[in-house]
Amino acid sequence: MTIMEDIIPEMAEQQSEPHIPESRVLIIMTGGTICMRPSPSGFIPARGFQEQCLARVPTFNDGSRSTMMDVVVDNTGQIKGHPSLRTPQTVYGRRVRYTVFEFEELLDSSSIDAKGWAEIAKTVERNYTLFDAFVILHGTDSLAYTCSALSFMLQNLGKTVILTGSQAPMLELQNDAGDNLLGSLVVAGHFMIPEVCLYFNNKLFRGNRSCKVAASDFAAFNSPNCVPLAVTTSMRTNVNWDLINRPTNIQHFSIQTNLDTTHVACLRIFPGIKPEMIDAVLKLDGLRGLVLETFGAGNAPHGQDNALINVLADAIKRGIVIVNVTQCLTGSVSPVYATGMSLSRAGVVAGLDLTTEAALTKLAYLLALPNATPESVARDMSRSLRGELTEVSQPVFQHPDGALTERVQALTVLGYAIAQGDLQRVEEILKLEHHYLLNDADYSGNTPVHLAATSPSLPILRFLLMQGGSVHMRNSNGRTPLFLAANAGLSEHVMLLRQSGAHLHSDERAAAQLLARRRPGVWGLAGIGPREISDREMEEAGEERLAERMMAGSAP
Ligand code: ASP
Repeated sequence: MTIMEDIIPEMAEQQSEPHIPESRVLIIMTGGTICMRPSPSGFIPARGFQEQCLARVPTFNDGSRSTMMDVVVDNTGQIKGHPSLRTPQTVYGRRVRYTVFEFEELLDSSSIDAKGWAEIAKTVERNYTLFDAFVILHGTDSLAYTCSALSFMLQNLGKTVILTGSQAPMLELQNDAGDNLLGSLVVAGHFMIPEVCLYFNNKLFRGNRSCKVAASDFAAFNSPNCVPLAVTTSMRTNVNWDLINRPTNIQHFSIQTNLDTTHVACLRIFPGIKPEMIDAVLKLDGLRGLVLETFGAGNAPHGQDNALINVLADAIKRGIVIVNVTQCLTGSVSPVYATGMSLSRAGVVAGLDLTTEAALTKLAYLLALPNATPESVARDMSRSLRGELTEVSQPVFQHPDGALTERVQALTVLGYAIAQGDLQRVEEILKLEHHYLLNDADYSGNTPVHLAATSPSLPILRFLLMQGGSVHMRNSNGRTPLFLAANAGLSEHVMLLRQSGAHLHSDERAAAQLLARRRPGVWGLAGIGPREISDREMEEAGEERLAERMMAGSAP
């Protein structure tokens, strides 16, 4: 399954040096305890985190020469060089090179709002092609809300985004900041987990499933309705690959920043609550959505005259979307009891096992989508968009510990099917609960998408992408599938990969520039060289060509 590269003399020289691969991670500092220092008025966020807190610590700085990393710092596309640091080599034989980009105003996270979330989303978007992954440093108080909001705002995310913070500042003698940040950096630098995640106390949680459960314990977060996506032990980080969500559209990464947070509210039911109280909230000027925290499996007091239900039903008729979530930490809203059923008969949407944080931010996201109607929002609140809720409970296929042989065998069989252009076989193999194979790699680091990028069958490449295969993984030579497809001269593969958001990694650009001198056409399609095609042109040209192929009946 080795893919031969067209090595040109200038590159051969570089390749003779022993080379330890490096991942490039952007750390975005928004504030929080992790960077705080004491002041006369209590702890406040302080600037200079990279120099003051990281540069002096050997686990965060291997002492090598600091090179500059480009960071796009504003909406005009202004690029500023930031000094980088590099971790020592990890157990996975890599190093992580990173730089910290600090926001103008560092916040205690209790003061963050939709504007702050938009700023984080924009920073990721502006720097998306320059880095392999992103780590966002944030206070813990509202961290679960920010994780949930970002999970919806970052659409078709193809790279790892991890939020973390700490209970004690990095400069305190006993702190959790070092472990939380190092763990996040290592996961971000090694694993392709294209989700918004939260790393804390050695666990990686799905961001929109998490909530803060302790005010001062180091184990401050949990995701009670979803097992951790990964757990770090003294030996390694074990990723629960069966759980990882992947984008399954042929679409670019994009962001949606205008959340309607000003027209949603949250209300907790309690014994004795008066219908008038709920009515007063529902009559707030411009209110469009309410998250109702109910008892147990989604129950609210009936009352003698149904007054509470009537208040809710009237509001729903006025176009307000009301979502039912449980006050319990685990479990789901379900119509088991009469008191819960009457809520759903009144038109209240079952939020299933959504956390309040996810329900509130999802409502704000859906209400702000173009053409949103109360009906479309109500429908989508009960559907899983980013793994934030469990639609139906299905048994999860788990591999016993000794399953390595099966894994290697399955990957080999898949590799042959791809090489032979046998789409039917590829579909069969992946159907057999083998989705984890998508981002698995053979001995030379090639994933199935790498193999399909150079195999003759375009439908196989499309199929793998639509199953969630990553376009950003790099093989042992540091090559992306896009590089391999361009190098093989496969223009249609190159176009399909670019429509799916693929771009050349910054480490590949020098080699690609040289190769583009020989074959400007296909490398131009890959976005490099004298005949470089921009993302926009590619999308337009791509759609036309795709339409032609569909008409000719050759597209799947
Ligand atoms: N108040 C702090 C914040 O959320 C708490 C923390 O970071 O742990 O910014």
